[in-house]
Amino acid sequence: MTKRNRISIDLSDLIGLNFECSKCGTSVTVPIASLDVRMIEQCPNCKQGWGAQIHKALSPTPNHVRSVVDGLQALKQATSDKNAAGFTLTLEVAPSVTAPD
Ligand SMILES: [Zn+2]
Repeated sequence: MTKRNRISIDLSDLIGLNFECSKCGTSVTVPIASLDVRMIEQCPNCKQGWGAQIHKALSPTPNHVRSVVDGLQALKQATSDKNAAGFTLTLEVAPSVTAPD
Protein backbone atom coordinates (compact mmCIF):
# COMPACT_ATOMS: atom_id res chain seq x y z
CA MET A 1 0.00 0.00 0.00
CA THR A 2 1.26 3.43 -0.90
CA LYS A 3 0.52 6.25 1.49
CA ARG A 4 0.39 9.72 0.02
CA ASN A 5 0.00 12.91 1.93
CA ARG A 6 -1.54 15.88 0.22
CA ILE A 7 -0.19 19.32 0.89
CA SER A 8 -2.63 22.08 0.06
CA ILE A 9 -2.14 25.78 0.33
CA ASP A 10 -4.98 28.22 0.71
CA LEU A 11 -4.62 31.23 -1.57
CA SER A 12 -4.74 33.50 1.47
CA ASP A 13 -1.64 31.71 2.80
CA LEU A 14 0.43 32.80 -0.19
CA ILE A 15 2.34 35.82 0.96
CA GLY A 16 5.43 35.95 -1.20
CA LEU A 17 7.53 34.57 -4.00
CA ASN A 18 11.08 33.50 -3.39
CA PHE A 19 13.78 33.89 -6.00
CA GLU A 20 17.24 32.35 -5.65
CA CYS A 21 20.02 33.53 -7.92
CA SER A 22 21.42 30.65 -9.93
CA LYS A 23 24.79 32.37 -10.09
CA CYS A 24 25.51 33.39 -6.48
CA GLY A 25 22.73 31.76 -4.46
CA THR A 26 21.34 34.98 -3.02
CA SER A 27 17.70 34.55 -2.03
CA VAL A 28 15.07 37.28 -2.29
CA THR A 29 11.46 37.05 -1.16
CA VAL A 30 9.07 39.47 -2.82
CA PRO A 31 5.77 40.11 -1.03
CA ILE A 32 2.75 39.37 -3.20
CA ALA A 33 0.69 42.16 -1.66
CA SER A 34 3.12 44.79 -2.83
CA LEU A 35 4.82 43.11 -5.77
CA ASP A 36 7.39 45.30 -7.43
CA VAL A 37 8.78 43.46 -10.46
CA ARG A 38 11.77 45.82 -10.54
CA MET A 39 13.03 43.82 -7.53
CA ILE A 40 13.44 40.74 -9.72
CA GLU A 41 14.98 42.22 -12.84
CA GLN A 42 18.43 41.35 -11.54
CA CYS A 43 20.15 39.77 -8.57
CA PRO A 44 20.54 42.36 -5.81
CA ASN A 45 23.93 40.88 -4.94
CA CYS A 46 25.85 39.93 -8.11
CA LYS A 47 23.68 41.93 -10.56
CA GLN A 48 23.11 38.88 -12.78
CA GLY A 49 20.15 39.71 -15.03
CA TRP A 50 17.07 37.69 -14.16
CA GLY A 51 14.43 36.87 -16.70
CA ALA A 52 14.92 34.69 -19.72
CA GLN A 53 14.10 36.37 -22.96
CA ILE A 54 13.54 34.33 -26.07
CA HIS A 55 13.46 37.50 -28.09
CA LYS A 56 13.96 41.07 -26.94
CA ALA A 57 10.46 41.98 -28.09
CA LEU A 58 8.80 39.38 -25.85
CA SER A 59 7.91 40.07 -22.26
CA PRO A 60 10.70 39.26 -19.86
CA THR A 61 10.12 37.01 -16.87
CA PRO A 62 9.23 39.83 -14.42
CA ASN A 63 6.13 40.51 -16.52
CA HIS A 64 5.23 36.82 -16.39
CA VAL A 65 5.56 36.96 -12.60
CA ARG A 66 3.28 40.00 -12.56
CA SER A 67 0.69 38.08 -14.63
CA VAL A 68 0.77 35.09 -12.27
CA VAL A 69 0.45 37.27 -9.16
CA ASP A 70 -2.38 39.29 -10.70
CA GLY A 71 -4.15 36.04 -11.58
CA LEU A 72 -3.69 34.62 -8.09
CA GLN A 73 -5.02 37.79 -6.50
CA ALA A 74 -8.04 37.80 -8.82
CA LEU A 75 -8.72 34.14 -7.97
CA LYS A 76 -8.35 34.88 -4.27
CA GLN A 77 -10.88 37.68 -4.51
CA ALA A 78 -13.27 35.69 -6.70
CA THR A 79 -13.24 32.74 -4.30
CA SER A 80 -13.10 34.62 -1.00
CA ASP A 81 -16.81 33.96 -0.42
CA LYS A 82 -17.07 30.19 -0.84
CA ASN A 83 -20.86 30.33 -0.72
CA ALA A 84 -20.99 32.76 -3.62
CA ALA A 85 -18.26 30.95 -5.55
CA GLY A 86 -19.75 27.53 -4.93
CA PHE A 87 -16.38 25.98 -4.14
CA THR A 88 -13.18 26.49 -2.24
CA LEU A 89 -9.86 26.61 -4.01
CA THR A 90 -6.49 25.51 -2.70
CA LEU A 91 -3.19 24.90 -4.42
CA GLU A 92 -1.80 21.42 -4.10
CA VAL A 93 1.94 20.89 -4.07
CA ALA A 94 4.10 17.82 -4.21
CA PRO A 95 5.25 16.68 -0.80
CA SER A 96 8.91 16.92 0.07
CA VAL A 97 10.77 13.68 -0.23
CA THR A 98 12.85 12.85 2.79
CA ALA A 99 15.09 9.91 3.33
CA PRO A 100 13.97 7.48 6.02
CA ASP A 101 15.87 7.68 9.30
ZN1 LIG B 1 23.38 36.63 -7.77
